[in-house]
Amino acid sequence: MPEPLFRTPKGTHDVLPDDQMYMTYIKKAVRHRARQAGYKRIDPPMFEYRGVFERGIGEHTDIVEKELFIVTGKQNADDGKQMALRPELTAGICRSYIENAMQQLPQPVELYAIGPCFRYDRPQKGRYRQFHQLDLEVIGLKDPSLDAQLIHVVTNILSDLCILNRLTLQINNIGTAENRAAFTEALKDYFIGKERNLPPDDLKRLQTNPLRLLDSKEEDTQILLRNAPVLSQYVSDESRQYHDTLLEYLTELGITFVENPGLVRGLDYYNQTVFEYWDASSGAQNAIGGGGRYDGLIELLGGKDTPGVGFAGGMERIIWHMKEAGVKVPNKDQVDVFVAQLGPEAKKKCLSLVSALRERGVHTVGALGEASLKSQMRLADKFEAKFTLLLGKLEVKESTIILRDMKAGKQKQIGIDEAIPQIIEALGKENLDTYVLKDHMKETAED
Ligand code: AMP
Repeated sequence: MPEPLFRTPKGTHDVLPDDQMYMTYIKKAVRHRARQAGYKRIDPPMFEYRGVFERGIGEHTDIVEKELFIVTGKQNADDGKQMALRPELTAGICRSYIENAMQQLPQPVELYAIGPCFRYDRPQKGRYRQFHQLDLEVIGLKDPSLDAQLIHVVTNILSDLCILNRLTLQINNIGTAENRAAFTEALKDYFIGKERNLPPDDLKRLQTNPLRLLDSKEEDTQILLRNAPVLSQYVSDESRQYHDTLLEYLTELGITFVENPGLVRGLDYYNQTVFEYWDASSGAQNAIGGGGRYDGLIELLGGKDTPGVGFAGGMERIIWHMKEAGVKVPNKDQVDVFVAQLGPEAKKKCLSLVSALRERGVHTVGALGEASLKSQMRLADKFEAKFTLLLGKLEVKESTIILRDMKAGKQKQIGIDEAIPQIIEALGKENLDTYVLKDHMKETAED
């Protein structure tokens, strides 16, 4: 095969039909659980003014500092209005909450989103430059019961997808913004005089975002951190109380969790509750998602002081876990019937037969080319059709058709009018794919 002229850009991939089955299945699970809990769907644009992410997520986080996909279109790059592809969904949804005056709606406003996100990351296993997130946000009220309910919805989704038992829910409370500021100061003080021992990248972090030192992979930094102040010492009683209540609620809901005082999450906007779903065997590396409370974010983006809590999960990692766990999803693209024909008359008849079968909800593929019957039958096999209907010159003359059960390898000649009823009976009415937009509402002139 010749080398293709173009390939997908580094870090991106086609979502091929086999993976679409998983994508659709996950989206269904999300939609179902989200609707049950009163969430409504939102789709923020795929790109925003870059300030939305820089202010929201934080200028000195990895996501913004290293991974933001800046979009340079025709706009003047110096006018301060450069765009960036969304690296996650929360910041855009909060921007939308403000812009669309959602504080006037009954609170909390519960929103969910599913779609592609972009990070200019170094591609590696489980890390792509374009990936898909599912996202749930609860904005406008603050109470541990809301955090618990959000986690419950996520847990239900993961359980529906049969991967909950492969994951552990890690949870922590990182305190209020003030608690974090006090801790950051303490951390800076601790490192005074120790700067020489810090690798250059971590020295930079100490100045820009000291909390990120906690995630450092550098051994020297980790050794120094052993005697450093720890965040939990700075978490206020109020936050501790909040956390204890949340844990009580989770227990009440039958949700198992692991308290993890080291969990901070890499985004600036979090306060108090943070949580992640880790791979039970490899830990944080294959985390499928995480979230937490972001009570300062909406104000940071120019809105009124408004609390919020949310979750984001990575679809590719969820699919990976489902495959590892051997979870099979239904193949809705299965071909039910293959229609084979020979001769111009048969071809004409088959056109309407194919169309009638499709109308009745039977997935039908028709080989309406000029190939021999033998090669059409080979095609039927390749499509893994359940049945083949075969119409040759003789059958046209006799108004009959051959119905072949591909699995059983048996065939019979039947009257052509019998073809559709017999196929429907063999497939079962409940398995027909009838497409009806049945919930539409008509407005009449009197309304
Ligand atoms: P984060 O908020 O950064 O923890 O991202 C939430 C989830 O999105 C992660 O747990 C992953 O499942 C997924 N995710 C984040 N970045 C990537 C990426 N570059 N490629 C694939 N999935 C990602």
